[in-house]
Amino acid sequence: MAGPRSLWLQEALRAEDGVESQELLEDTKADICIVGGGYTGLWAAIQAKSEDPGREVVVLEAATVGFGASGRNGGFLSSSLTHGLGNGLARFPDEMRTLEALAEKNYDGFREDLARLEIDCGFEETGHLGVALEPYELADLEEEAELMRRFGHEVEVLDEAAVRAEVDSPTYVGGLWARDGAAMVDPGRLAAGLADAALALGVHIYERSPATSLEARGAGVDVLTAAGKVSARRVLLATSAFPPLLRRLRHYLAPVYDYVLVTEPLSELQRRAIGWEHRQGLDDRSNQFHYYRLTPDDRILFGGYDAVYRFRGPVGARYDDHDPTFNRLSQHFGMAFPQLEGLRFSHRWGGAIDTCSRFSVFFGTAHDGRVAYAVGYTGLGVGATRFGARVALDLLDGRETEATRLEFVRRRPVPFPPEPLRSAVIQLTRNRLAAADRADGRRGVWLRALDRLGLGFDS
Ligand SMILES: Cc1cc2nc3c(=O)[nH]c(=O)nc-3n(C[C@H](O)[C@H](O)[C@H](O)COP(=O)(O)OP(=O)(O)OC[C@H]3O[C@@H](n4cnc5c(N)ncnc54)[C@H](O)[C@@H]3O)c2cc1C
Repeated sequence: MAGPRSLWLQEALRAEDGVESQELLEDTKADICIVGGGYTGLWAAIQAKSEDPGREVVVLEAATVGFGASGRNGGFLSSSLTHGLGNGLARFPDEMRTLEALAEKNYDGFREDLARLEIDCGFEETGHLGVALEPYELADLEEEAELMRRFGHEVEVLDEAAVRAEVDSPTYVGGLWARDGAAMVDPGRLAAGLADAALALGVHIYERSPATSLEARGAGVDVLTAAGKVSARRVLLATSAFPPLLRRLRHYLAPVYDYVLVTEPLSELQRRAIGWEHRQGLDDRSNQFHYYRLTPDDRILFGGYDAVYRFRGPVGARYDDHDPTFNRLSQHFGMAFPQLEGLRFSHRWGGAIDTCSRFSVFFGTAHDGRVAYAVGYTGLGVGATRFGARVALDLLDGRETEATRLEFVRRRPVPFPPEPLRSAVIQLTRNRLAAADRADGRRGVWLRALDRLGLGFDS
């Protein structure tokens, strides 16, 4: 296997096919300058230009479009804006009905936008299958199904025989198939499609143009890069787990590395040996969970389990490789699908997740409202980024909406402690989550204390 490289980045986002391989080489002006060419930045560019074609919209991307999490993720599109109903209810119980209504609207809008903008990203409305690996997890399935039905979702609880009839792994003892609000996409084609749509609308995208700082000037803000600056009326920060241009954001974000393996395409025989006719996105229900899916060309993508936080949270290409995690994932894959023994992995990679303590996107403004940000999606941003972009734009325009009035939008997460305490707390929490998985899900004193404080660690 060659070096770490995202299948999606390789296939849809190769530099030579890059969208408009252009760097910022001189000073320019914009009504809105968006920093970050991932889903958040690209959706924001499309929305800003669609609602007011007269606006000059510039996107600055440090590497190439989709270089960050948007070109490396699993491609699980979930309607949830809150990292699941349970997490949302624990933190925003009074707003959950509204948040779910906004989530449904965002999900439907996502589907409509793909059609309107002619983005072909392998969108498959397969639903989502959560599988139980341990008998103690079965009781939770009924409870969760009940909760989801109360919020209008269509779900089905599967026993061992039924879940194995869907996907045949000897490790499964039951499952929960959420039939609505969940789809699969090809992440690279989504990023490339959004970039093409933005360009077609007249957005200027500058790649290989990292913004280095912000300077308030007159009624606007200058966004500086090594070769030139963008003098903008408004700035939208969409930089996810990367070092933020606003220092205060460091308190709220912990870049956590998540790793993925992808197999060679399955043969007809191998495909038959596992079933998976409905091609659902699948994850297991442990604290340390794996997620897996079929790619459009019938490979299996298998990721998750380890969520690696490093001291001070560095992000960069050297962290895309992590043999201990790849070895563990490969071993776990063998246990999940012993009938595929001998199937080789063709791709492996890692990517940084913008974890925050509430596990969902948060927002804010700076420089007297001239700068806004949407970050903190914590591993569930494929769908939520479209909503995040919308809200950040509304904050920039000073527009009050149903969303901007919510505590969900107005309240920031509880900050992580500074280093070295941060590393220690995260390691301890990871260790206790793993211990809970080994102890039939029982959460010890530490996790219960965090639960009471509304804090946590996830990916
Ligand atoms: C391995 C992995 C698997 C995942 N799986 C899923 C999944 O299956 N489903 C799901 O919903 N979510 C998943 N996620 C999360 C999801 O990918 C993200 O939430 C989403 O892509 C975030 O998009 P974004 O645009 O906010 O950030 P990013 O895609 O990270 O984009 C940020 C961009 O900003 C650029 N940038 C940073 N700093 C600067 C600067 N100073 N100047 C200019 N540009 C800058 C970066 O180069 C980058 O391109 C996963 C994430 C990872 C890493």
